[in-house]
Parts: sequence; structure tokens; C-alpha cells
Amino acid sequence: MAHAVKELFPDAKLAIGPATDDGFYYDFDIERTFTPEDLAAIEKKMTDIIKKNNVFVRKIVPKEEAIDLFKSVGENYKVELLNEIEDEEVSLYEEGGFIDLCRGPHIDSTGQVSAFKLLSVAGAYWRGNEKNKMLQRIYGTSFTDENDLKEYLLFLEEVKKRDHRKLGKELDLFSMSEEIGAGLIIWHPKGALIRRTIEDFWLDEHYKAGYKILYTPHIAKLDVWRKSGHVDFYKENMYSPMEIEGIDYEIKPMNCPFHIHVYKTSLRSYRELPVRYAELGTVYRYERSGVLHGLLRVRGFTQDDAHIFCMENQIEDEILTVLDFTLFILKIFGFDHYDIYLSTKPERYVGTLDNWERSTNALKRALEIKGLLYDIDTGEGVFYGPKIDIKVKDSLNRPWQCSTIQVDFNNPERFDMTYRGSDGKDHRPIMIHRALMGSLERFFGILIEHYAGAFPLWLSPVQVEVLTIAERHSDYAVTISEGLKSEGVRTSLNLENEKIGYKIRNATMRKVPYLVIIGDKEVSEQKLTLRKRSGENIGPLKIEEFIDIIKDRIKNKILEI
Ligand code: ZN
Repeated sequence: MAHAVKELFPDAKLAIGPATDDGFYYDFDIERTFTPEDLAAIEKKMTDIIKKNNVFVRKIVPKEEAIDLFKSVGENYKVELLNEIEDEEVSLYEEGGFIDLCRGPHIDSTGQVSAFKLLSVAGAYWRGNEKNKMLQRIYGTSFTDENDLKEYLLFLEEVKKRDHRKLGKELDLFSMSEEIGAGLIIWHPKGALIRRTIEDFWLDEHYKAGYKILYTPHIAKLDVWRKSGHVDFYKENMYSPMEIEGIDYEIKPMNCPFHIHVYKTSLRSYRELPVRYAELGTVYRYERSGVLHGLLRVRGFTQDDAHIFCMENQIEDEILTVLDFTLFILKIFGFDHYDIYLSTKPERYVGTLDNWERSTNALKRALEIKGLLYDIDTGEGVFYGPKIDIKVKDSLNRPWQCSTIQVDFNNPERFDMTYRGSDGKDHRPIMIHRALMGSLERFFGILIEHYAGAFPLWLSPVQVEVLTIAERHSDYAVTISEGLKSEGVRTSLNLENEKIGYKIRNATMRKVPYLVIIGDKEVSEQKLTLRKRSGENIGPLKIEEFIDIIKDRIKNKILEI
């Protein structure tokens, strides 16, 4: 592709062009903005290059020679990259007169490229830094087989249809605004209703599972975050402190120190442990504007956070319980496929090697007892301890990071936490940090895409819509609507003087699970006919029968409509 671009647009400067999980991209510095027509022309040129079957020749040259070469052709970005490479020698690949800096390996010749497609163009800052020049990134993909490419393109179409930013707007769920600030989510009434439903469920289940619920402030003295180690290890994700009466305060990136504080407000006995505190805690983290993405990557979000304080011999049981709880919650939302990762000690860490090993082993044993398959993510643990990450698979089989369970020997030390043991002496508790959904914003984004906006009944902002065929059906429709509302079913009523087909289409666009359509027959029989979101009709039913059915389905959170 880069070769084709250089042939068509000799002024384009080459930046970087790596392979990705699902294709490749290349960044170009060029005055014009690439159009869809340009992409078509580039594809055509690529086909020519492939037909020529040019051989890829690998050349190992001294770094200085490579610098001179790229300097002489004005490829400044390559020169900048080369200057940062420490090796004495670098590898270049050449094909049909086009030469690029590349570590390799490569296929033997251009003729081996078969099915490919250029997908899109996007702006991208050089090295991802918004202070640098904005380059143009062309995305593409390639397969060995034409059918695989076709299948992948269909998948991309489905991804586009399910895009939570697009559906969020169409279904009036949430918005973001340049005026308010990037990465900050405004929940609209329907989105807020879904969130509230999720929160209520979350709260009930946490009380049932023996958690105590907390509310904590949004800011705290910067010293608290020094003590917790965040200032040392997490600074790049924290905002600048604000000064209040000469003291620095920081908007919270985490909830942990507050929960530690509550634990420490009284003397704890071993009999009380484990202590489980949970909070829907809103935190603020700095993310570069370039990486912000709808609900998925934001600057302020609410974690379904919890901290468990226990004795060392309780860790394994607690992790087992948390794993069960996590998988139960995820299943209720319709996620029963996941990838599990065990993340181990990172390069920068605190605590003793012995603690790291013991806590990593506790996580491992819990996963093995549950018979859960997992991969090891070497070096991806948090600075204070190892963790289990659970990535749910959505209906398109895409993995999404949601749940995390982290063991922490370090914060209890830093905050000098203790409990009185059966021996009458003070001991250090162990801390477990865990989030099930992760962030409510992100989880909502995942739900929207998983269900393509057609939420299960219990989460739908409107569960039933009552529609009339003619004006004379209004009285009976009102009776039914009021009957449903009084039973707590979220109901809307459409008495408008429109054709019934139009009304049905309108409600279907809003993905309302159940439509109740009232005409002459329903009024005369004092019954109702039900039209499911799937298009299936049920009835005639008595209103009491329908109320029983729908209440049961809401209560039991049945996913199928
Ligand atoms: Zn925490």
C-alpha cells in the first residue's frame, strides 16, 4: 500500500505502518485529504504491484547508511525513527524499487498477497501525540482467501450497525458535548433509566452477598494519593491538583483510600473479617483526546468498585466467591462466554517478591478450583499486586475487558491497617480490589453493542407500548396502559391519529419489546393482542394474564422476548 501511495502521490511522506490484529495501517504526511476515490485508485495500483510479483529483498545496512538513504529522499519520519534505534545495523526491505525500513519478516514476493481491501482513512497524530502534526492513516485488511475477506467485511458492517455512539443518539440514551468537555458522558432519561435499573440490581445483589455499601467524596488531599502510591505509579492518568486553602487536593482516580479509611475508623477483630465494602464510585482519569471513544474510553466514569479486607487464609475462598459472583452478574446481562487472564508482576512494582508469589498463586488456585481456563498476561499486573481480568465476549464474539479482581498486600502496609487476631495481637489484613462490570459507562456501551440497542425486557426503558387502531379505541387503551403502569411495568401509550402500520414501525425503531395493539375486536372481547419485538403475535390475552406474564419475565430477567 505504501508503495502504491508513493507512486500515485510522490509528495507523501512515510511515517509508520504496522500490522494489527485485524489488518494493517500506514500513516502518511500529505497535503491533500485522501478521498474514497483515492482509496480506490490506491487499491488499483496495489493490484498492479501484486500482479508484478516483485520479490521482497532484505538488506542489512549500517544505521548511518539507512539514515543517509532516507535523508536523501526526504523521508524525515524514517530518519527520526532511525535516530532512536539503538542497533548498529537495521534491516530494509525493497520490492519493485520501493524501499522501507522494516524489521520483517515478509512474504517472499508481492504476488503472495491475495484478498485485500482498504477500509478507511482517519487522522492520526505522529506518535499519537496531539502536539505533533496530524497525519493521515489508511486502514486496510488482507486475507489469504477471498471468502474470508467477504466474511470479515460483513462483520465490519454489523459492527457499524451496532456502534453504540450511533445507537446512543438514535435511541436518545446519552450524549457528549464539546461545550461540556471531551470524554464526559451525559446520561439522557432513557439511558439513565437503564443505568438506574442496573444499579438497583447491583445494589440488591451486593447486600445479599454480604457487602456494605459506601458513598465517598470526589476529591481528597493529594497526600492521600501519595500515600497510596498513585502519585508515583499512576501520575500520567491523574489530573493536576487543585488548591484549597493552601493545600493540594486531587480529583479521585480511585476509590480505594476512602474504603481503607472506613475500615480504619474502628478496631477490627478477626471475627469481623472478611469486611466487604462496595461503592458505585465515580472516578476521573486523564486519557488523551486521541484515545477517547464514545462510552468505552472516557475521562469520568463510575466503577462498580469493592474492596474486601480479609485474613491471608481467607484469600482463596474470597476469590472463589468473587469469581462466582462475577460470572453470575455477567450471565444475568447475557454474557456467558469470556476470556480470562491472570496478570503477573509488572516491571515497576511495590511489595516483596514473596507476597507477589503468594498472591499470584492464590489467584491461580482459585481459577483452577473453578475449572476456568485462563491465559497468563506476563507483567500486566497492577503495581501493588497480581490480578484476574475477565473479558466478556459479545454477540459478535468480540472480547471486552470488564471484570477485574486484584490482590493487594501493599496498601494495607502503606495505610498501616490492622486487625486483632485470636492471639490478641495485631495483624495485617489483605486487601482485594474488584469490579464486576468495570465501569457503568463502558459496560453500557458494551450492552448497547451486544444487543444492538434491543435491550432485554428488564432493562428496556419502555417495556410495553399500547397502540390504538382508531380513536374509538382510546378509552380501553388508557385502561390497559394504566393497569400496566400501576403494576410497575414501564408503559407508553400512543393514541395519535396515525395509521397503525406507522405506529408499529415507530415503536419498532425504538426497539420496544412488547406492543399491545387495540382494535374493535380487543375492545369488544375486553382482551388484548400482543406483538413481540420479533414480530410474533400472541393472544388474545386477558389483561390480568398479560400482567402476570410480563411481571414474571421482568422479575426473572428473562433475556428472550
Ligand atoms: Zn481499589
